Amino acid sequence: MAPNGDPELERFVTEVARRNPGEPEFLQAVREVAHDVLPLVADRQAYRDARILERLAEPDRAISFRVAWVDDANAVRIQRGYRIQSCNAIGAYKGGLRFHPSVNPSILKFLGFEQTFKNALTTLPMGGAKGGSDFDPRGKSDGEVMRFCQAFMSELFRHIGPNTDVPAGDIGVGAREIGFLFGQYRRLANEFTGTFTGKGLAYGGSLVRTEATGFGCVYFAREMLGTRGDEIRGKTCLVSGSGNVAQHTAEKLIELGAKVVTLSDSDGFVHDPAGLDAERLAFVIDLKTRQRGRIREYVEKWGGTFHAGERPWKVPCDLAFPCATQNEIDAESARQLVANGCRLVAEGANMPSSLEAIGVFRANRLLFAPAKAANAGGVAVSGLEQSQNAMRLAWTREEVDQRLLEIMQKIHARCVEFGREGDEVDYLRGANRGGFVKVADAMLAQGVL
Ligand code: NDP
Repeated sequence: MAPNGDPELERFVTEVARRNPGEPEFLQAVREVAHDVLPLVADRQAYRDARILERLAEPDRAISFRVAWVDDANAVRIQRGYRIQSCNAIGAYKGGLRFHPSVNPSILKFLGFEQTFKNALTTLPMGGAKGGSDFDPRGKSDGEVMRFCQAFMSELFRHIGPNTDVPAGDIGVGAREIGFLFGQYRRLANEFTGTFTGKGLAYGGSLVRTEATGFGCVYFAREMLGTRGDEIRGKTCLVSGSGNVAQHTAEKLIELGAKVVTLSDSDGFVHDPAGLDAERLAFVIDLKTRQRGRIREYVEKWGGTFHAGERPWKVPCDLAFPCATQNEIDAESARQLVANGCRLVAEGANMPSSLEAIGVFRANRLLFAPAKAANAGGVAVSGLEQSQNAMRLAWTREEVDQRLLEIMQKIHARCVEFGREGDEVDYLRGANRGGFVKVADAMLAQGVL
């Protein structure tokens, strides 16, 4: 899906580029959505007149702030914090916080833009937002992470609230960070409300939230395979990343009888031809969440090979689950996946496939599950966490998991409804159009804002 010469698309993207110089990730996300949505807009005069797509390409609000904190050596450190509130036409803003040195306005605007459509697909009333900081939790002590989180929340707290904006975790923001962030919010706001999701079970968290993105991604892939009379059992799977999403994607795949042969982190990937089992996965979860170690240590304990500085896409597989970060599959990797017999790519991470890679998948008619559908399970269970907090109730694990499964099935059905082309389904088109229509109709009803 390289620039395709459609004059309407090029005119639209050129104007967005002019208004947002130096923001390639944001432009990439806008182009991907506009490519599928513009033909639909062309057919609906009301969307054109209200300039719905143009308005969505401009976040409601972009907040940037200084975060000053003191490290263990008593040196003052300065980071930048952000919250991009993209669109609240269908519900209070909702979206994660990312702590990673690469964080900048372009990445957060792309994530907030995507989040708006993803949240619409979940069927729950949630708007889109994203935030974070260029702070790197790697190598920091618990005390440093706590002081940073408190300093970050000292500014963010005035922009969020249970009916305003409800953040969650993302890359670099796991259980530890969420605890510190929520604690400082509770203190400053002097209220105990569900103004954060992904909370610990002891203080308002939901069962299955930790696993939800990965589990949901596999549920979605299973639905897709089902349309071709196929199943997960017996498939060889590549998973990238080794954080939250990768861990629980692997867990569900193993439970359903697949063979997971790779995991990765920013240093490289591990290939274990024997496949991970529950014991090996438990080792990885402990390594990455408690010991904060590197994935290469897997090979020392369990064998297999470590490939420094590489990504796993050259390994032959049936199914691929990119679960690390954006643009981790380029056109060359996509061609390798196709040549090696890969039949399905389900995006656990946000925008892991470049536009060119998506073009390769489309041309070869792979089953391609785009992030805004495939990884919506995380925010869906965040929405369920908000419901439980509002009711002051806690559902059982089985109840939350069942609701997650039903939501992923509904998202799949909406993608099919909006993406059907003859006997085939273009899931990317279906997700883009299915999410867009819900938000667009809400915006139309509410007037020009
Ligand atoms: P984690 O921080 O738990 O894990 C991220 C993983 O990706 C780590 O293995 C990390 O390696 C690797 N990684 C991060 N940046 C890079 C990079 N630049 N190059 C190579 N590897 C990298 O994050 P999550 O698992 O929560 O998030 C992963 C993806 O899923 C992100 O795209 C996120 O936006 C998306 N997502 C997450 C949801 C959630 O519920 N957590 C919900 C929906 C989407 P290392 O250990 O070396 O840093």
